[in-house]
Amino acid sequence: MQNFELNKLVRKNILALKPYSSARDEFKGEAEVYLDANENPYPSDFNRYPDPLQWKVKELLAQQKGVNAEQIFLGNGSDEAIDLLIRVFCEPNQDSVMITEPTYGMYRVCANINAIAIQNVLLTKDYQLDTEGILKTATPNTKIIFLCSPNNPTGNLLKLKDIFLILNKFAGLVVVDEAYIDFAGDISLIKELKNYPNLVILQTFSKAWGLAGLRLGMCFASEAIIALLNKVKYPYNVNIKTQELAIEALLQVDKKNKAVTEILSERDELVTALKQIPFINKVYPSDANFVLVAMDNASSIYQKLMQQGIIVRDRSTVVLCESSLRITIGTPTENKKLINTLKSV
Ligand SMILES: *Cc1c(COP(=O)(O)O)cnc(C)c1O
Repeated sequence: MQNFELNKLVRKNILALKPYSSARDEFKGEAEVYLDANENPYPSDFNRYPDPLQWKVKELLAQQKGVNAEQIFLGNGSDEAIDLLIRVFCEPNQDSVMITEPTYGMYRVCANINAIAIQNVLLTKDYQLDTEGILKTATPNTKIIFLCSPNNPTGNLLKLKDIFLILNKFAGLVVVDEAYIDFAGDISLIKELKNYPNLVILQTFSKAWGLAGLRLGMCFASEAIIALLNKVKYPYNVNIKTQELAIEALLQVDKKNKAVTEILSERDELVTALKQIPFINKVYPSDANFVLVAMDNASSIYQKLMQQGIIVRDRSTVVLCESSLRITIGTPTENKKLINTLKSV
């Protein structure tokens, strides 16, 4: 946050950009006759364009998250937000982003697509931030540091004091990806947005909410940062059906909370069972809906599980995850089948 100046961080062409103004941007409110968007006039569920800024979804989210609706960006998965953040703040062939591997792969891919250099400061052996290394490696061209907490694929939360240290010392954006935060208790950093103008938080409907197929991701930040993302996004980036189903889901938070409770109790059982399998060397502590498991011959176990119709994620070639598989918590039946199959291979 030291010397944080948003307008200096943004790419100049984006700052100067006059965004596309859609028909639905220019007229807001209710009318009897819409002849402004070249739509087919015959009514169906989908003959009209969706609300470009998804206000109904955002108003519900704003209440639940304790922020203003203007502090929310919604996109085609959180992946859209990751890509937009890079495109808004990083000048191709000049700027860089920092990542802390092993972590979610999309930060690296989005940076590569946009010709943005990657500074990779590995996590420590216990999968925490090397804060000294991060702060030493950052340059004035480092525009974004991506942190993932709970981290994928390791499953652990990052220490809050480390995240705060980086928020305090780094002059660029700190993006905290909270895709798995619902599994970690009520500890989102959203409440810190008012203290840190350089904080950006990502969440998603794809995990705890059980709506991966909808493709809806959330980004929370200052109104100024969100306005920049809105300027660059495709005009109608979230379709009508997705907006409707998100509203339906948000009106039934209990359903999500119940799923989380069940998954967490299943995780405990699965971890206990995994620890009894002789070739499993370590089940890493998890704050998410998956566990990272180190074992002898991980790749060959992965193949054998696959032959039995069970697909897990082979992370054995990932730095600091050598010989590990990442296993998502399934239903009780699925988890039993996994354990029985592991015992038999
Ligand atoms: C699954 C996941 C996401 C979610 O991506 P969507 O595009 O919203 O489905 C984001 N970040 C991390 C770390 C993830 O594991």
